[in-house]
Amino acid sequence: MTHRVTVLGSTGSIGKSTLDVVSRHSGQYQVFALTASTNVEQMLQQVLEHQPVYAVMVDENAANKLKSRLPAEVNTEVLCGTDALSMVAEHDSVDMVMAAIVGAAGLLPSLAAANAGKRVLLANKESLVMAGPLFMQAIREGGAELLPIDSEHNAIFQAMPADYNGSFDDHGIRRILLTASGGPFRTSDMDTLRSVTPAQAVAHPNWSMGQKISVDSATLMNKGLELIEACFLFNCVPDQVQVVVHPESVIHSMVQYKDGSVLAQLGQPDMRTPIAYGMAWPNRIDAGVAELDVFDIAQLNFEAPDEQRFPALNLAREAFLAGGTMPAVLNAANEIAVTAFLSEQIAFLDIPRLVAEVMSNHRPEDITSLDAVLVADQWARDRAAELVGQYCSHSTLSKSE
Ligand code: NAD
Ligand code: MG
Repeated sequence: MTHRVTVLGSTGSIGKSTLDVVSRHSGQYQVFALTASTNVEQMLQQVLEHQPVYAVMVDENAANKLKSRLPAEVNTEVLCGTDALSMVAEHDSVDMVMAAIVGAAGLLPSLAAANAGKRVLLANKESLVMAGPLFMQAIREGGAELLPIDSEHNAIFQAMPADYNGSFDDHGIRRILLTASGGPFRTSDMDTLRSVTPAQAVAHPNWSMGQKISVDSATLMNKGLELIEACFLFNCVPDQVQVVVHPESVIHSMVQYKDGSVLAQLGQPDMRTPIAYGMAWPNRIDAGVAELDVFDIAQLNFEAPDEQRFPALNLAREAFLAGGTMPAVLNAANEIAVTAFLSEQIAFLDIPRLVAEVMSNHRPEDITSLDAVLVADQWARDRAAELVGQYCSHSTLSKSE
């Protein structure tokens, strides 16, 4: 049987890895739709190779350019706009949806796939952080299957009992050990952190990823978002999730049981492993990933995260505990802060500082509807943008002093 796949965010790091796995199993998987924001060149190559039914470019100019470049014999229909993202995610012909758009922009199409009862391969952690309760409800009520693609959550999923019912107690689970590489600044002191550049921040020691998640890994906000992600996915609280810095990124996370057992999943730092796992589950297929040679690794190290130098982790913990709209506010403020850092408007250490300030101005509301999430998201973006302006003018002042 051929599974028809929509890849949301196909031109990104996860999108490209997904298409690589699909290409290795073309009899089993067929691309139904590809979507991207603006990258026409990359999309053109992907459309020519995979000949999907639809190609969506969110940007209208990009869609027009793509149309004009497609040879007449290619039957792919080019669409534009955000509604088209949801249309190709919930389409009757689709079996599975790779949710690999970066940031809050992924929320609506990921939800559409959940509501339509698809197998949702969730890389876009931000959508779960923003709207966890709504998202999990949509999965349940839509009759969808949720397969975590984030490598840590995929590892946890693999180490959890196959019939996990959402209760640690019922299955004798003590805690989740969520591993973190520690990022490029694991051993840097505060003085160094004050002046790191975007180029240094996106140079991750073990993983090759998109810019936003690379900066998140450097601040450890990525681990904060993943802590919230784990709480929603596995129905637990931050106290049941211990973050463990493991610089080799060989163990992708672990589950500790009451009898003393600890189950871990190991592998190369290559996202094609969790992607292939999610696509083929409960079976396994070749992902094109090199075998792990344990003699080569020889040694595995573990240390506690330094929460003084990396306060983002605790901000995420606080956001989850505050509940309601607070995780959406944390996420939105972080997205604005990361963009401002990448364009050299604010400093690296301003990222958690800005997120903390936006959170301290927010009174969380219950998430009763998607609207509540979107209103909080917009409020946090506006507030964060104001703060970027203030931080910029201060740093200009101090430079001229
Ligand atoms: P990326 O920046 O490489 O790619 C992002 C994709 O989203 C691109 O195809 C882009 O065109 C599309 N996109 C960007 N903005 C958009 C918008 N406003 N509307 C519609 N589409 C838009 O990102 P990535 O590294 O592939 O990460 C994608 C998601 O997967 C993120 O949520 C990230 O946290 C998660 N993730 C990534 C990795 C990794 O190894 N890269 C690992 C775990 C989780
Ligand atoms: Mg991860």
